[in-house]
Amino acid sequence: RADTALYEAKAAGRSRVATAATCDAGLLEDFRAALDHGGLQVALQPIVVPGTGETIGVEALARWNHPERGPVSPAEFIPLAEANGLVKELDLAVARLACADSVRLRRALGRDVLLTVNASGRHLVDPDFVQDLLQVLADTGWAARDLVVEVTESTLEAASAAARDTLEELRAIGVRVAIDDFGTGYSAFSQLDAIPADFLKLDKDFTSQLTASGRRRAVLGGLLRMSEELGLAVIAEGVETPEQRQALVALGCPLAQGYFFHRPLPVEDLLRALSAETPPAGAPAGALSGT
Ligand code: C2E
Ligand code: MG
Ligand code: MG
Ligand code: MG
Repeated sequence: RADTALYEAKAAGRSRVATAATCDAGLLEDFRAALDHGGLQVALQPIVVPGTGETIGVEALARWNHPERGPVSPAEFIPLAEANGLVKELDLAVARLACADSVRLRRALGRDVLLTVNASGRHLVDPDFVQDLLQVLADTGWAARDLVVEVTESTLEAASAAARDTLEELRAIGVRVAIDDFGTGYSAFSQLDAIPADFLKLDKDFTSQLTASGRRRAVLGGLLRMSEELGLAVIAEGVETPEQRQALVALGCPLAQGYFFHRPLPVEDLLRALSAETPPAGAPAGALSGT
């Protein structure tokens, strides 16, 4: 298909840096084995309201602990999976694990939470992707309205009509869409109104410059107003310091994520971390301690 060819061409340009990892035959073999035998894990990182720290959702991040090499970075194994036709299997495996974990999390929190999963741009030109995702939802009992699919800004620059159709299809079944890594490279401000999305994730490089530059804060202020009018909720990624958090609160950024609040954690550890927090006013004490 023309869309797939276009996607491949763009992806090839982007992944030249990853050549070393994508050509490591031994690592590829081990990765395949991990995919086939349940060797992948997922870490969940809370998405919070920056002013209160309240967790409203979690992002699922793939984790691979290699039996000999130890933890392998997603920066290494995602390009490997992309280059070898395994990224769909990876993304669906992560979605499946994350949905199951989130069912536990929602039960422990006693309220709805959002789950966001990362998706390769490839899936947007895959005619079966939406159906496959629906199957994961059916199998795990996670609701479509509590799922958000993250796709990167660079993918959307190349968004063909077919890719946009897939985004519309996702929203038609109730799944929401986030534009990931916004603010890296040349952000397509002029296209924001044309992309069917619900969340805008501000890249951590953007967040890290907030406290150093009043001009940067002015750009974010404008972006926040524009996003609000477009119905996009902004999530600032990579918040690491109290000063960054304060800048976000002052500007009225609705959502945030980063080490300052929580690191990505396995569900067990996350349940422990959240139950140690002071419950919001009105919540019954110990509401977080059950599973
Ligand atoms: P991303 O989706 O933009 O995820 C955010 C990355 O920032 C994660 O890195 C997270 O651990 C890291 N991070 C979170 N808070 C902070 C912070 O305060 N400071 C800093 N410096 N970093 C922070 P990670 O887990 O290494 O993942 C890297 C990228 O790999 C992700 O970027 C995403 O593009 C990709 N990825 C991860 N899991 C999956 C997956 O299941 N499927 C696909 N297709 N891609 C994935
Ligand atoms: Mg992401
Ligand atoms: Mg991101
Ligand atoms: Mg990223």
